[in-house]
Amino acid sequence: MNSSYRLMERLAHITAFKDTRRLELSLLKTLHELFKPDTLSLVKLNTNNQPLVLMRYDPKKNLMQDDDPALLGASTESLIINALNQKNLNTATPRQREKISVFPVLDLFDLNLCLVLNSSTALSADDIRLIRSFLDVYRNFCLLIEDVQTDQLTGLLNRKTFEENFQRISEELPEEKQNPDPADRRAAAPAGLNGYWMAVIDIDDFKRVNDTFGHVYGDEVLILLARLMKACFRTNDLLYRFGGEEFVVIAQCQNLESAQFAFERLRKTVENYDFPQIGQVTVSIGVVQLQTGLLATPLFDQADQALYHVKNNGKNQVAFYQELVSRGLIKPVKTLLGEVELF
Ligand code: GH3
Ligand code: MG
Ligand code: MG
Repeated sequence: MNSSYRLMERLAHITAFKDTRRLELSLLKTLHELFKPDTLSLVKLNTNNQPLVLMRYDPKKNLMQDDDPALLGASTESLIINALNQKNLNTATPRQREKISVFPVLDLFDLNLCLVLNSSTALSADDIRLIRSFLDVYRNFCLLIEDVQTDQLTGLLNRKTFEENFQRISEELPEEKQNPDPADRRAAAPAGLNGYWMAVIDIDDFKRVNDTFGHVYGDEVLILLARLMKACFRTNDLLYRFGGEEFVVIAQCQNLESAQFAFERLRKTVENYDFPQIGQVTVSIGVVQLQTGLLATPLFDQADQALYHVKNNGKNQVAFYQELVSRGLIKPVKTLLGEVELF
């Protein structure tokens, strides 16, 4: 009775998060508490069929992420590849070799995810059933999150998801990534550190596309643009359809130059793409570097201000808010940072 109660508590803990990464951390934490394995990881096959550790649970640090596939060891790697590539997946039994157990996560997206558990004590049949059940809950919840967070037309994230994701990103921004005063010339210098940039992207003269070719062709442009965006950015970058013909990207870049390169590449890609029947479509892009402490709305307003500047100056360009302010081309957007008003 007592243990069922505890299991229900753990289940409630796992499903408390609408964010896939927090969900995964909670899953690993729960399984670690229940089985005390030596190591516990979520592993994914990348496009080259290579196992990549998405998340390795470390009880001391609470979480460790690792991109180094070599850390798994060749024998574990082959076990994972076999487990995920087997044609007739047997849901009841994991793939096991010595102390390693590999549990494929079934029916989730591309079927390329598994839980890897390394334990010196052998798992009982009941243990295995319990782990599978937790993975089934995790899988169902992932699919639910995916459904709720996705824009139906384009498959990008929807606007509702933006604030939640934004909260997590601002928690991750370390102090030294701050770029607080856009009028300060030092702020225009490349940060030399990883940072996040947020762009608001708006299709130029989209009303004309609709008026000339009809809404179905307009919708097709939105779908194709979303595809071009996916091709231009990395899988970890966040791509949203914000509404109508407006999109938002939050991308992590090395420095200002690489951010300029990334958004300019998107602009050029769209400009050079031959949209069926329609021909050329262009986009205007306003970008802002994320700053610690600023909320989503003021940052969005700053990127939108840069976009507005582009719309009034010939469209089909990329403009950075901080640069426009330091060049005196736009007035700073008034934002509130705690008690202090920044201009
Ligand atoms: P600008 O270059 O200033 O952005 O001009 P625009 O014509 O793109 O901007 P405006 O805001 O005047 O028009 C946006 C149009 O986008 C209006 C509406 O017909 C169209 N639109 C909004 N949502 C959708 C949608 O989901 N599908 C289609 N096909 N069209 C949409
Ligand atoms: Mg618009
Ligand atoms: Mg538009």
